[in-house]
Formats: sequence, structure tokens, C-alpha cells
Amino acid sequence: MKKYRKIIIHAIVFVILTLLTQIGGVVYLMSFVFCGRIKYSFPLKGLAAFLIIYALGTFVTTPMLAKLFNRERITHYDNLRPANYMTVLMNRNYVRPEVNSYLKSVSEQLKEQDSKVCMRYLDACFPLIDGFPLLPHLSHNDGKKIDLSLVYENTGGKIVNSSKSVSGYGVFEGPRIGEVNQNRACQTAGFSLYDAPKYLTLGSINDDLQFSENGTRQLMDALTQHDAVDKVFLEPHLKERLRLKHNKIRFQGCHSVRHDDHIHVQLR
Ligand SMILES: [Zn+2]
Repeated sequence: MKKYRKIIIHAIVFVILTLLTQIGGVVYLMSFVFCGRIKYSFPLKGLAAFLIIYALGTFVTTPMLAKLFNRERITHYDNLRPANYMTVLMNRNYVRPEVNSYLKSVSEQLKEQDSKVCMRYLDACFPLIDGFPLLPHLSHNDGKKIDLSLVYENTGGKIVNSSKSVSGYGVFEGPRIGEVNQNRACQTAGFSLYDAPKYLTLGSINDDLQFSENGTRQLMDALTQHDAVDKVFLEPHLKERLRLKHNKIRFQGCHSVRHDDHIHVQLR
């Protein structure tokens, strides 16, 4: 009985690590083999083995393997970086090469305009296997999708490169009185998970920061200027507030989740 319980616990850990990082489950199994081969016994030997293999997997092996699946890590620039480095550590920063080219041109465009906006990316896609979803985003499974943070400013109106939650998700720039309230409409239509990202904040931070209309508009304008872009999702009230007219900026539908905490970009 005890043996079965152990197997079930290992299986659960394997599944959770795989869902969170894609390679974590396999690394977990490898760490058992590795530990079995090392005769010395010391405290936290299993954890040490896991961390070493995981680091090698994340920074050495996986980037090479990803090439077989036409994926690569998002290239960083002065004005393009992860909102949270955990995205990189969890292998959630892979895209197709054409997405990297697109991001490079958006970065250059912002620089040319002397914009203070920094593109801060959230979840993109996993490195391996087409069709493998990056939960909780079911559509992030083909290397062509990337989420970006909204732009925020401090009380002095200066653009700052910080988020309003630890995860970068779930703190909404909700509709003001008189604006379209898509969340209410979706909830009323029975889509109770429409605002589920509120459970994914991992804690809200930087309460003093405000949504930067100017910065987010600059970012949205730069993002939609390229032919490679298929769709950009932003909540209807923000599209209206920022007076964005581009036909690539769409409403994602009530079956998805609200997009007033982040921007979703997908390429053709
Ligand atoms: Zn997305």
C-alpha cells in the first residue's frame, strides 16, 4: 500500500512539473537514475541532482533540441525582456524564429520613435512538440503566440518597467463607468471562468503604479504595424479608451479569459 502511495505521489509530481515546465517531469525521472548511480549519500541529494540536471536541460540541451521543433528562445534587447525571469527558468519563453524576427522589428520601431516603452513578455510557448499546450493558455501550443505586459507608469507619469502582480497576470485594468463591460457580459452569459486570471496573480504588487494609456497605445501601435501579425487580443474597453482602430486588434471571445491584464499577440 505504501509503495503504491509513493508511486502515485511521484506520478503527480511528474505531471505537475511537466505541465509547468515541459522538461521538469523527465528531469525528475532522470534525477532518480542519477542518484542511484552516485554512491555518496548526503542531505537533499535528490533535490541537488534535480536542480543540476534541470539547469543543464534548461540552458544547454533544450535550446538545442528546440531547433528540431523550429523553436528558439526569445531574443532579448534593451526594450524586450521577460516581465519575470521565472518565465525563462520554466522554459515558457520559446517561439518560432519568425516571431523573434517580428519582435526584433517591433523593438527597433519603438527605439526609432524614441519610445520609453519596454516590451515585457509573459508566457510564450514551450520548446518542444507542436500541439503541447502551455497551461493555462490552451492556444499557446505552436510557437506563434506570446503574451506581453500592459505598460504602467508611476504617479509622476513616468513609464516604469514593473508589473502589478508577481506572475504578471490577474490584476485587471477594468472598465470605467460608461465603458463596455465585457467581463460582466461574459459572466452574465454563463462564462464564469472569464475572469479566472484573478487567481493567478501569485500576489499583487506595486499598487501605486497606474495603467499608462500613452505607453500601452505606443506598444499596441508598434505591435500591429507588421504583416506577420495575425491577431492581437485586448479587452474592448481598453481598445476604446486608447482609441485603437486597427482591425487586427480583436476581442478573443467569452470562452477565453479577459485581456485587460495583458496583451496576447499571435502570428500567422
Ligand atoms: Zn496569450
